[in-house]
Amino acid sequence: MITIQKFVVNPLGENSYILSDETGECVFVDPGFYYTEEKEEVKEYIAANKLKPVMIANTHCHFDHILGVEFVREQYGIPFYAHAEDAFLVERSVSQAQMFGFDMQEVKPMDGWLHEGETLKFGNTKMKILHVPGHSPGHVVFYSEEENILVVGDVLFYGSIGRTDLPGGNYDTLISGIKTKLLTLPEDVKVYSGHGPETSVGVEKWSNPFLT
Ligand SMILES: [Zn+2]
Repeated sequence: MITIQKFVVNPLGENSYILSDETGECVFVDPGFYYTEEKEEVKEYIAANKLKPVMIANTHCHFDHILGVEFVREQYGIPFYAHAEDAFLVERSVSQAQMFGFDMQEVKPMDGWLHEGETLKFGNTKMKILHVPGHSPGHVVFYSEEENILVVGDVLFYGSIGRTDLPGGNYDTLISGIKTKLLTLPEDVKVYSGHGPETSVGVEKWSNPFLT
């Protein structure tokens, strides 16, 4: 049984998630922790729930989703995984952050890659990895068929979709990926986005103005 803890962090209001299961093992998805209070809150959550972090798994590597990668890496000694096609975003993250007006610590390269068709594993849990590019070239999502959970990063939001005007973005690619890979999932699948509230596949399928 997957437990999802959401932290709304950094000046861009990014959703960082900690996914854990009954074994206590957990994965950090898109750690964007920036302020000291945000990092303290994470440490308290991990300690209070006696969790054992095993890896960082990013949906994609825009700077607001990786601001806390070095903190988590150092704090828990765990590797950072994402899709290889987003490696250039990790390299450019400091300058990208400067364009948005703030300083960030350099993030070292990924320790390993996530691929479509493989699974994200922690404890007794396995989630499918799907590649859904268009917001960024290496964007992936994590899907639990057993528990109807979909962690989508910035591919899909409540009533909206990810922007496609950043380097490597493509509108048509994004729309077709959402329609073929996400809207074909059961309608009651709960969707956890990289910004904003939770939604579901059915709600977006029938009411998202970009998709109807
Ligand atoms: Zn993004």
